[in-house]
Amino acid sequence: MNTGIRAYLKGVTQLKQNLKLKTFIRKARFLGSKYYCPICASKVRKFRPYGFKFPVLTEKNIIGGGYRLNAQCPVCKSTDRERLLYLYLSNKTSLFTEQVKLLHVAPEPALSAFIEKHSNIDYLTADINSDSVMVKMDITEIDYPDKSFDVIICNHVLEHIIDDSKAMSELHRVLKSGGWGILQVPMSLSLTTTYEDFSITDPTEREQVFGQSDHVRIYAVDYLDRLRDAGFQVNPFEWWTDKAFADSNNKHGLLQDECIFVVRKSE
Ligand SMILES: [Zn+2]
Repeated sequence: MNTGIRAYLKGVTQLKQNLKLKTFIRKARFLGSKYYCPICASKVRKFRPYGFKFPVLTEKNIIGGGYRLNAQCPVCKSTDRERLLYLYLSNKTSLFTEQVKLLHVAPEPALSAFIEKHSNIDYLTADINSDSVMVKMDITEIDYPDKSFDVIICNHVLEHIIDDSKAMSELHRVLKSGGWGILQVPMSLSLTTTYEDFSITDPTEREQVFGQSDHVRIYAVDYLDRLRDAGFQVNPFEWWTDKAFADSNNKHGLLQDECIFVVRKSE
């Protein structure tokens, strides 16, 4: 083995040891019995605060968008939303056991790291901006043939896209018949119809109006109609109604009222 390769391998080993040490220190610092992160299998005394504080997020009661005191795992950095998805995928789907081709758009880091470990999953990560994914992808114009994927996960993306119906149609097009997906968005429980205004382009104004500098709308419950218009069957999953999720102490630190929008393609 030449000296260069030996030095590289030594560097990789050192990096892995440092990561393990950091994880160990975080686990020790936050050790407790009240909460449990199922992604990194850590028992912690609390999760960390996470999210934006823009008033509109509270005023419009936007689930999945505002500031939460008990949201982020101090060990693996997973958010409440990632832990909910992990629990759903593990308990309610065969994603981690069957051979599947998965498209994950704007992948959540902790969840993505977990998915990557599974050799049964033919995994493609995509994003329009980020460099830490496998392919650059504009989901209003997906450069893949019809029926390419068994499963699509695309969360907190559609509220950034002006032509969201085109994006939904494209996601539907590349999903195989019988395939399924999870398409989470932040949703207002106060509004009855989705509010959008594409004339607002100033990032600060968008923060005030939509709750984030690059959002173009606030979805309401009619989000489900938009998904149906794109051809999807929609089966919302309410975790608090399922005993496997809703222990009395909410030990996984899940976000109350955060529904999972499960979609299917029938044809
Ligand atoms: Zn964790």
